[in-house]
Amino acid sequence: MKNHHCMVWGTAGDIGDRGKGVIVVTREEARVREAAEMIRASRFLIAFTGAGASTESGLPDFRSPGGLWRDQNPVLVASSWGLQRYPERFFAFYRTRLSKMRGAQPNRVHSILATWERQGLLRGVITQNVDGLHQKAGSRNVVELHGALGRAHCDACGRQHPASRLEERGIPRCACGGLVRPSVVLFGERLPTDAWDKAVYLTRRADVFLVVGSSLTVAPANLLPRMAAKVGRLVICNRDPTPLDPLAHVVLRGTAGDVLEEIDRLLRHFRLL
Ligand SMILES: [Zn+2]
Repeated sequence: MKNHHCMVWGTAGDIGDRGKGVIVVTREEARVREAAEMIRASRFLIAFTGAGASTESGLPDFRSPGGLWRDQNPVLVASSWGLQRYPERFFAFYRTRLSKMRGAQPNRVHSILATWERQGLLRGVITQNVDGLHQKAGSRNVVELHGALGRAHCDACGRQHPASRLEERGIPRCACGGLVRPSVVLFGERLPTDAWDKAVYLTRRADVFLVVGSSLTVAPANLLPRMAAKVGRLVICNRDPTPLDPLAHVVLRGTAGDVLEEIDRLLRHFRLL
């Protein structure tokens, strides 16, 4: 097993000022135009999304104030170790996430990316999110690097179970006695090989790789934008600085929704699309 197949936290050195919904301002217009032009001219555009793509759908991101990990240690709660050692806490945490996710609807980020794919501009989405909102918005070529919260399987025998079992009171078990768990990648677990391989394939082909709403601190997912910067152009749209900003050809600071909407507007306005 290669180390980079296990999901781990990276350094936290990227956490800068937590500005409130930074807006793309005039000074940034040149950069947004540059990104829009790059996207228009691309032949194989790939989007890479993180928690910031889903915040406008009411799903909290991980480390912001009010984020998922504010009162929780991810290694204790969302790890294979936590599942085995403290199943009550594990399932309580996931029941809360599931109930938030059930009512969540795609937002403008998901819609814009789905539209670009339909129009032939975007070749695929690689997502770290487990909420299924890209597919709900109509995206078809979606690689779920960290699995999906809408699926469940037995941790012991691998049998698939309906995700509704995760919402049972107590600890859901398979007929074999194993724990029925969400089909998401937990900390310390390997990424699904097929998803990883497909993501690497798409990344190597991407002439423009657009990061949308990711702090790029979770490995091995953050190896993909590193790879992308070597083979094509890397564009990073995120509210806060990321450790990979120095590798990017264009960095756009702002919420995923604001930045993507602005790019989309430019593409239409200048008939780039
Ligand atoms: Zn089983």
